[in-house]
Amino acid sequence: MPKYALLIDYEYCTGCESCVVACKMEHDMPIGKWGIRVHDDGPWQMNEEHEGGKSFNWNKIPVPTDMCDLCADRLAEGKKPTCVHHCLAFCMDFGTIAEMAAKLAEKPKQVLFAPCDCDIDLPGADDFVIPTAKAAAGPRPRPKMAPKPPALRA
Ligand code: SF4
Ligand code: SF4
Repeated sequence: MPKYALLIDYEYCTGCESCVVACKMEHDMPIGKWGIRVHDDGPWQMNEEHEGGKSFNWNKIPVPTDMCDLCADRLAEGKKPTCVHHCLAFCMDFGTIAEMAAKLAEKPKQVLFAPCDCDIDLPGADDFVIPTAKAAAGPRPRPKMAPKPPALRA
C-alpha cells in the first residue's frame, strides 16, 4: 500500500515547469524522459450556464509519471521532493496520504497523486511529518515598494 503522496493545488499552478526541470536535474533524466509533466487543459470557453459563457477553462495540471519515485533519496536525507522544493507558486505539497487527503478535503481544484509504492525509509512513518513548502517558507513577505523619486523642481 502506498503511504506517501504529492498534493498539487493546480488552481495556483502557473505552468512555469520549474518542477519539471528540477526533477530532470535531480534524477539525471535523458532527453525525452520525465518524472513529472505539466498538462495544458485549455483555454476553451465554458457553457452559457457559467457566467453567461464569459468564463474560460484554462488549467495547468502537473502529473507525475511512472518514473517518479517520490525522490526517495532526498526523503531519506530529510529533504522534501525536489519538485516541491522548487515550486515557485508553493502549490505542491508532500506528506502521508492521510495528511494530503485531509488538505484535499479543505479545498477543491487540487489533485492527489500516489505515483509509486516506493519503499521510502522515513523514521516513524505514521507520525513523521515533513515540513510542507508553505510551512517551511512561512508567511509570504510583502513586496517592497520602490521609493518615490524626489519631486522635480520647476
Ligand atoms: S517527487 Fe521527485 S521524482 Fe517525483 S515528480 Fe517530484 S521531483 Fe520528480
Ligand atoms: S513548479 Fe509549481 S507552479 Fe511551476 S509548473 Fe510546477 S507545480 Fe506549477
